[in-house]
Amino acid sequence: MNSRICVAVRKRPVASGVEDIVETPSPACIVNEPKVKYDLTPYTDRHTFTYDEVLSDTADNSVVYKHCCLPLIDTVFNNGNATCFAYGQTGSGKTHTMLGNNREPGLYAIAAREIFARASKLRAVIYVSFYEIYGRKIFDLLNQRERLFAREDADKVINICGLSEHAVNNIQDIFDVITAGSQYRAAGQTSANAESSRSHAVLQIEVRDPNAGGRKGPKVIGRISFIDLAGNERGADTFDCDRKTRMEGAEINKSLLALKECIRALGMGKSHVPFRGSILTEVLRDSFTGNSRTTMIATISPSAQHCVNTLNTLRYTQRVKDLGGGGGAAKVEQVMAGAPAQARRPAKKKVFEPAPPVKNRPEWVADFADEEGGGEPAEHNGRGGNENKKVAKPPRANAAAAKGRGEAAAEVKVKDPKIATIVKNHIAALEEPSGEDEEENEDEDDTEAPQEPARALPRDEERQVRKVHAYVVDEITKAEEKLIALHRRHIDSKMTGIKEEIRAIQAFEESDSVDDYVTKVRAQLQKQMADMQLILGMLTSITGMLKDEEDLSYTLNSSHKVVGR
Ligand code: ADP
Ligand code: MG
Repeated sequence: MNSRICVAVRKRPVASGVEDIVETPSPACIVNEPKVKYDLTPYTDRHTFTYDEVLSDTADNSVVYKHCCLPLIDTVFNNGNATCFAYGQTGSGKTHTMLGNNREPGLYAIAAREIFARASKLRAVIYVSFYEIYGRKIFDLLNQRERLFAREDADKVINICGLSEHAVNNIQDIFDVITAGSQYRAAGQTSANAESSRSHAVLQIEVRDPNAGGRKGPKVIGRISFIDLAGNERGADTFDCDRKTRMEGAEINKSLLALKECIRALGMGKSHVPFRGSILTEVLRDSFTGNSRTTMIATISPSAQHCVNTLNTLRYTQRVKDLGGGGGAAKVEQVMAGAPAQARRPAKKKVFEPAPPVKNRPEWVADFADEEGGGEPAEHNGRGGNENKKVAKPPRANAAAAKGRGEAAAEVKVKDPKIATIVKNHIAALEEPSGEDEEENEDEDDTEAPQEPARALPRDEERQVRKVHAYVVDEITKAEEKLIALHRRHIDSKMTGIKEEIRAIQAFEESDSVDDYVTKVRAQLQKQMADMQLILGMLTSITGMLKDEEDLSYTLNSSHKVVGR
């Protein structure tokens, strides 16, 4: 694993009696897809993929760690940003890989053990934060799921304002903190899975040097992030549920596509990285620039029942590898030369006390900490309470280019007149030329519907409807945020207004001056009316978009219904 990017696949075990259709002769991964000919004779379609590492169902987390994560630790102690993503369908083992369970530690704990060992030699201190990206919203998992906001500061740096961070001294501390945080993670209902991970969870472990730095706080030595991504089961599965679920699905698809583009840009040494594609990639901007190293672990369920999702996972990951791995490494050096690692300082922040110990910690926590290098407490007590947490620092990429995921031409491909009108209304906004990312549009298709040939909508029409749907969902979410902010302001000013009106009435009764009364009350009511008209306008526009979203998803859903679901 010399490249900056390692792409691995991990097969989870199947229950006994279930047919296993995946072979793992690393670095190849072979899927034996069961199919039926037109004359109903069964046959097997063999798909072969190659990656940097392929881990069989007998590999435990410590093997996965050795093959995929070891070099990440060097990056952390080299003033860099290491990132490890778990990608795959719900139930395929992402959380098992990242967080582990009562029987075995997850990758974060194995990495933390090594980090503690190396940090104690440097007398460095360790902080963790843990947050969740759900739709476009960010929640602090270590602070009772408090809603957080990502904001760009004057230096164009994206900060997650108010993210809590917790000083940890050993594996027990980190286990307790993460266990407490995991309980806040969102789960929702989809038609594909009763319990589905609909959010991306980001766990960051940061190493700081309390003796370097200065007034602004200790210098950041490096950071490792573990990202347990939302389930990647295709968006089509979510078109026949309620609006909230549909919108979540669209947002997840969008962020996973943006993520692939960012890793690809890193791997290919592109001059810009399209962070702006989603909140996920915006807040993880550091992971794709400067001295960064990324591992993506695709987890797959090898039963025949999950074949379509497994193939989609493998195709996506293959693209990440083809685009980002191997050959891209030389070019990465060029990117790095242009983007020197910045001396990161943590930003203003409340530091939390360690979490209370979790009852019934699994045995591995203690065993693990007792082993060599596991638990020597790093000193971190002598510092003031105000620490900092910048979430990104590197030079900003070309945002305009990053945005461009639009169609090459504004041609409306959809035949259905009603849907064609909706597409026409929105497609212009999608029309930003993306320059060098032009070929990227093809990537949108790398998730595949089951029984491919039997679609009701031709493929290019569906792609367009899908794209417009994602755009409309995005616009609805942005409009919601604006509307709520405006409504809150309106309520505040209405409260003040009511007091003013009461005062005007009292003044009128006391002084009998109708002129004053008329002037004051008119001004008040006009202001309120202007606000209300603005809100009504926004409500109308959102209603229109909601209707469009419904029509588009109905079309997408019925397109898939025809294929016999
Ligand atoms: P995801 O986070 O991708 O939705 P989970 O990690 O929650 O999936 O895995 C679903 C179930 O399968 C859990 O009970 C988990 O313990 C089990 N599991 C997943 N991967 C493995 C594995 N490699 N070995 C043993 N059990 C696993
Ligand atoms: Mg999970």
